[in-house]
Order: sequence, then structure tokens, then C-alpha cells
Amino acid sequence: MASSPDVIVIGAGVLGLCTAAELAARGHAVTVIDPGGPNASSIAAGMIAPALESVLDYWASGGNTDRSSLFRTARDLWPEFAEWLGISLHREGAEWRGQNPHNVHGCLRGFGFDAQPAGPGVVTADDWRIEPGPALTAMARAPGVAVIKGKVTRLTGDARRWRVEAGDGRVWFTPTVVLATGAAAAVAGLPAPLAELVDRIIPIKGQLTSVATATPPRTIRTDAVYVAPAEGGVVIGATMEPGRRDLEPDPIEAERQVAAGLALLDLTGEAGQTRVGIRGATADGLALAGPSGEPGLHLALAPRRNGWLMGPLVARVVADGIEGRPPMADAAALDPLRFA
Ligand SMILES: Cc1cc2nc3c(=O)[nH]c(=O)nc-3n(C[C@H](O)[C@H](O)[C@H](O)COP(=O)(O)OP(=O)(O)OC[C@H]3O[C@@H](n4cnc5c(N)ncnc54)[C@H](O)[C@@H]3O)c2cc1C
Repeated sequence: MASSPDVIVIGAGVLGLCTAAELAARGHAVTVIDPGGPNASSIAAGMIAPALESVLDYWASGGNTDRSSLFRTARDLWPEFAEWLGISLHREGAEWRGQNPHNVHGCLRGFGFDAQPAGPGVVTADDWRIEPGPALTAMARAPGVAVIKGKVTRLTGDARRWRVEAGDGRVWFTPTVVLATGAAAAVAGLPAPLAELVDRIIPIKGQLTSVATATPPRTIRTDAVYVAPAEGGVVIGATMEPGRRDLEPDPIEAERQVAAGLALLDLTGEAGQTRVGIRGATADGLALAGPSGEPGLHLALAPRRNGWLMGPLVARVVADGIEGRPPMADAAALDPLRFA
């Protein structure tokens, strides 16, 4: 039998590692279990984009959804979180070059975000960026966090403790588990209502391509494509294919995206690797964060397009739930029991 940490986090994506780092900073001994390898978090563009994501969600809902306050709260947790962990936070802003720049300008202003007309587009200083790979590494190395390689194949518990079993037979016991398994199917042994909730998470396949070229000063976005600065050039993405969880890149789509992205920059470049990730999403597009309704079992799942933006907020909500603190105001929007 392996050691018995205070908290076991299953899954080392941005939600699992942000939560682990937050809990460790609060004095808990945290073990994260993950098989390793790429995940949605590691292949993401790393945009921390409360402003333009608020506009896109507003449009997608036909003008019925205002997420600006929630997204701004999440973004505003990043400076302290990044500084503490030594994560570089690029506050270079982002530019909208898609349809309806006047409408985007008006929406941004209406939501209280910065918005400046710039040529054919609109620039906002309120959208930032991190580099996913180094950020994940920094979180995994946070003092008090231990990351163990393994795939959890069974999770069973009673009111006292959870039994966490890995595929290779290792077993851990802990009073508190955080399920942060991304878009994966429910782990065997979960109580039926929770297994159903996890299995209702919608997988959304997405791909982006690295391109060696001159690095632009900030992210440029349109309705169809975005170009984000990255080491050695840019990443150009990203597709959204609900219902798909295969990891096969689509070379024709990659070529189309790269051509559209480079045209935005008015540059040439050499396309490199196309990577695929599977986002998990709920019916309302917001994460499941907080107590699951089962004693000692907490969720940090399904942030759809905004896992990096929402990471520190999800972590805080989950850690408050574990410690039995009163939930912060934004926790209600993420309450896993809202779908019960
Ligand atoms: C192409 C693309 C671009 C994106 N760009 C951005 C962006 O710019 N900004 C932004 O905010 N978001 C972006 N996203 C969305 C973001 O990446 C996701 O919302 C986020 O990564 C989800 O994080 P997660 O921790 O829930 O899941 P994941 O990153 O998928 O992590 C889940 C982890 O759980 C592990 N796991 C699963 N089952 C088990 C098990 N049984 N035992 C142990 N471990 C298990 C997996 O191995 C995985 O490592 C993008 C996504 C894609 C696909």
C-alpha cells in the first residue's frame, strides 16, 4: 500500500494542478495521480481571455449570457498565483480582427473591459496569456505537491475515507479526493449519480498547429481562427468538434487554419506539429467545481474553452469546499449540484 496523503487529486491538467497547488499552499499534503503525457491543458494556447471570451459567450447565447464578472474575477486571481509559482504572465492584450468590430468594441465597453479601435480591429488590454507547458511544470513542482504516475481505475469510499486504486494494483487511502479527470469517462466505482454527471461531460475535440514565424506582439483572434504568440513563432487554432474524443489531427483543417492565421499576420511561416486536445464541457459551458454531494469527494471538471482562465478560481472554490469555508460568491455558478 502506498502513502496516505490528506488529499488525492486525480488528473494533472490545469484544474487538477491549480487545485493541488492551492491546497498545498494552504498546508495540505497533496498527491496528484496522472498517467502523464499530453492533455488538453498542455496543448492549449494559454490565453487568459476574460474580455473576448465574454463577448463570444454573449454572442453564442444570443445576448442572454453575461460572464464578464465571473471571467474577470478568474483572471484577477492570476497575477498573485503566477508570481507565487514563478509563472510568466504576459499582459500584452489581444486583438479582435473578426466580424463586427464595432459590436465587439461596444460589448467590451459594456462589460467594463478596455477596448481601443485599432485599424480594422479592436484591441483590449484585458486579455493575457501564459505558456501552458512551463506553467504546468511550475504547478507540479509547487511545495507540498507530489505527482505520481498512474491511472486510477477504481475509486470507492464510505463516509470515512476513499480507496483509490491504480491500474497496476497500487492503492491509496485518503479522506479527500478531487476528481480532475478532464473529459475522461467516469472512473469505475463512483456512486451512480456522480458517474452519470461525469459521463454527461461533452468531449470537444480541438486542434492547433505550431508555426515557426515572427512572433506577433499579441494574440489576434477572428471568428474562425486565432494566432497566439508562442516560443519560436505562433500557435494557430483552434477547432471545436463536440462529441469527438479521438486524437487524430486533421491535416486539411490544419492547412486551412495555418493559411488563415498567417494571412492575418501578413507573414509566411513553416507549419510544425498539429496537436489535438479534448476539452470537457457541461451543458452551460461552465466548470463543475466544488463538493460533489458525496462526503470527501470534490470535483474540478469541464471548463470547456476556458480551463486556463478559470484554473485559479476553480482551485479556490474547490479548496474552500474541502476546508468547509463559506463559498465565495462566484462558486454558485460552478456548483456541481446545479445539474442535479
Ligand atoms: C486546442 C485547444 C486550445 C485551447 N486553448 C485554450 C486557451 O487558450 N485558454 C484557455 O483557458 N483554455 C484553452 N483550452 C481549453 C483548456 O485547455 C481546457 O479547458 C483545460 O485544459 C481542461 O483542463 P482539465 O484539467 O479539466 O483537463 P485535462 O487537461 O484534459 O487534464 C485531465 C487530466 O486527467 C487525467 N486523467 C484522466 N483520467 C484519469 C484517471 N483515471 N487517472 C488519472 N488521471 C486521469 C488525464 O490524463 C489528464 O492529464 C484549449 C483547449 C484546446 C483543446
